[in-house]
Amino acid sequence: MTAQYTPMIQQYLAIKEQVKDAFLFFRLGDFYEMFFDDAILAARELEITLTGRDGGGEERIPMCGVPYHSAESYIAKLIDKGYKVAICEQVEDPKAAKGVVRREIVRIVTPGTIMETRSLEERGNNFIAGLAEEDGICGLAVCDLSTGELYVTSFPAALEAIADETGVYQPREIVGTEQILAKLKESPAMAGRNIVYTAREAAEDGRLAERFGAEALTRLAPVRRRAIGVLTGYLEETQRRALVHLSRFREYEANQYMILDQHTRRNLELTETVHERSRRGSLLWLLDRTCTAMGARMLRRWIDKPLLSRAAIEERLDAVDKLHADLMLREELRNALGEIYDLERLVGRIAFGSANGRDLVALKTSLRQAPAIASLCASSGSPALARLVDSLDTCADIADWIEAIIVDDPPVSVRDGGLIKSGCDEYLDRLREASVNGKQWLAELERIEREATGIKSLKVGYNKVFGYYIEVSKANLTLLPEGRYERKQTLANAERFVTPELKEKEQLILEAEEKMVDLEYRKFVELRDRIAGEIERLQKLAGAIAAIDALQSFATVSAERRYVRPVITEGYDLIIEDGRHPVVETMTGDSPFIANGTRLTSDSPMLLITGPNMAGKSTYMRQAALLCIMAQIGCFVPARRAEIPLTDRIFTRIGAADDLAGGQSTFMVEMRDIQIMTERATRRSLVIIDELGRGTSTSEGMAIAQAVIEYVHDRIGCKALVSTHFHELARLEQTLAGLSNGCMAVAEEAGTVTFLRKLVPGAAGTSYGIYCAQLAGLPDSIIERAYELLHQAEAEQARLEKHSAEAKRQDSSEAREADAVRETAVSAGAAPEAAAAAEEPLQLALFAEP
Ligand code: ADP
Repeated sequence: MTAQYTPMIQQYLAIKEQVKDAFLFFRLGDFYEMFFDDAILAARELEITLTGRDGGGEERIPMCGVPYHSAESYIAKLIDKGYKVAICEQVEDPKAAKGVVRREIVRIVTPGTIMETRSLEERGNNFIAGLAEEDGICGLAVCDLSTGELYVTSFPAALEAIADETGVYQPREIVGTEQILAKLKESPAMAGRNIVYTAREAAEDGRLAERFGAEALTRLAPVRRRAIGVLTGYLEETQRRALVHLSRFREYEANQYMILDQHTRRNLELTETVHERSRRGSLLWLLDRTCTAMGARMLRRWIDKPLLSRAAIEERLDAVDKLHADLMLREELRNALGEIYDLERLVGRIAFGSANGRDLVALKTSLRQAPAIASLCASSGSPALARLVDSLDTCADIADWIEAIIVDDPPVSVRDGGLIKSGCDEYLDRLREASVNGKQWLAELERIEREATGIKSLKVGYNKVFGYYIEVSKANLTLLPEGRYERKQTLANAERFVTPELKEKEQLILEAEEKMVDLEYRKFVELRDRIAGEIERLQKLAGAIAAIDALQSFATVSAERRYVRPVITEGYDLIIEDGRHPVVETMTGDSPFIANGTRLTSDSPMLLITGPNMAGKSTYMRQAALLCIMAQIGCFVPARRAEIPLTDRIFTRIGAADDLAGGQSTFMVEMRDIQIMTERATRRSLVIIDELGRGTSTSEGMAIAQAVIEYVHDRIGCKALVSTHFHELARLEQTLAGLSNGCMAVAEEAGTVTFLRKLVPGAAGTSYGIYCAQLAGLPDSIIERAYELLHQAEAEQARLEKHSAEAKRQDSSEAREADAVRETAVSAGAAPEAAAAAEEPLQLALFAEP
């Protein structure tokens, strides 16, 4: 069938064949055209007119197009919607072409490979991930093409682990084998995210050696090499250029960092809030006082990956300490940093070949600040800051190159001249002189011709089609002498002429200008390529500046919010005195935030918190987790004093808001999270469970809650904060040596209830739920009736308990079991604070079974 199409459409179809999963932007003169199904879909997605075109077939071919000069915004729109766009250009001069102009795909733009500033979030990375699997191990490579960062790691190929580690980067695009992608797509953690999946086999290792050097590769585990291969292979295939800024990868092990699963990241609102998914209100939002975009991105990566090495944490804390104490130093650093552009992305564009004159000037301006920053750090008196800039290469030579060649205020376009300084190329200067002289000559010509002809309105002008001309209005034509003036163009009320001298000068001027523009472009590209050869130096400098920026950001927030330096220990005990929730404390408006201590020690690693809703339980529990994270990223913490032990992992099971999105039952999700916790938590972990067991019936929920608490207490031995609305569980304090009770204090006065938000020892009274209802303004009659029912129930339970205990005692064949139960019940009942203990004897018996 294709045979009947015109040669151009045949060419289109052949090229489209290579990029079935992308829109093909097919360059035709000043437009990118799309045909067939692409056209129909693009017209709808871009809201542009669908037309048709004869292509030799029986029917007209659907077609739509966008002007090439405004294509970027259309491409951005499609990318944003998760499509890919292949850009197909004419790769030979149409004038020189025999038959159809040769065309080739020059680049495939995909969501994970955007380079265009307008489509990139300035303060965030745009990651693309590559996955490979071998012998039950998963390799993960992650790259931000716009900055040149490339990370690689591996871990056991369990779905949870793949989803967790990949999810940390929030990639826009994931490349991997069919099997591994199929697995990943099933994960609830990946649901609801706007991710483009591309199936691809691993690339040849030979190409990797070219890029990274054979030596670097030999040290790399095979599965990691494959992951990098899959990723860089895809990047090469889509970008079709050298990508010299991707010449280094950074390896890491998952256990080098604190492990935070997806739920925990979300629950703790590390980088976005749970409800609005907004940056505002997150820990990142609070801590980000960086002055540069790369500093902001680094800070975010730090929050994503809290450290586990005490030395590395102390190093950051040392730097923050100095910056925290020295306001002058901080201000001076911030001023210098404020002048620095996004070095990483400038470097990315230089490597990509898309940097323009303005980018190079921005690079120069930034590099000029580097020495000041380096010397501020070197003389700061902080060994940690000094080490950051020790033998730092500030790339002054590169700034000098740019200074010598590029004008201070170059145009956006690199193809229209006007960007190279005079005095740096003799030939260019000569051409420029010829052009300038020519233009002066033209200005002079107008005066001379006016005098010669006596026509005051005579004009010398220029247009693209006819070149330079002399224009005389129709009324004055008779004044023009015969012979010398050759008619060139007729307008409604004027005629345009040329003279032999004008033609000659025109030739000279145009030639000079064309050569000038060409030469300027060549000189520019030469410089850009030269800088591209120095990319590793620039990347190192950018990395150091980003780190300094992130550290000053921590110091700035810490100083403003009165944070203190945490004491990092390799011990067990977590001791926080007067801790505050970093984000909530900024949002309580006029009412002050109430500070609370946390004390989880080897003698008493678990705290069970009871109390009504809105009392401040979950704020309190999250606060402890956030302080651990803040300490381990090297930031000061909101507390009077804090002793933070290195924590390998934080598990949280909080709330139900996010479960609904995945379409799973709350209870099932809770149980799955708990299952993972039981499997992975170690003694060095911190476990936080809010409203344990609430997704099912009371007795079952309470049974599971107690069993889980016992498991964490007896088998894992980690620190844990657990809140529950099962007040009865408070009696566990009697049997579990490491568990203590706490509750949020509530003041009642003349029938009104005030939440004091102060954690106090002991269990909450059971009737706070009714106080809460009262507070919400329920009618008095309901409140009174509720109290009445509550008292009835309490009396009934007490009676049942007595009955049940007697019944058990009589059952001699189960004597041993009964003994255990009696022991628990008696000791619980004997404790004066644990009034709740006597309330549910049946369940008590149930729990006591081994
Ligand atoms: P719970 O988990 O007990 O239902 P939350 O922790 O959600 O309660 O707290 C409810 C509200 O109380 C929070 O939104 C916050 O505004 C406020 N709050 C919590 N803790 C404090 C505190 N320590 N100081 C001041 N306000 C607090």
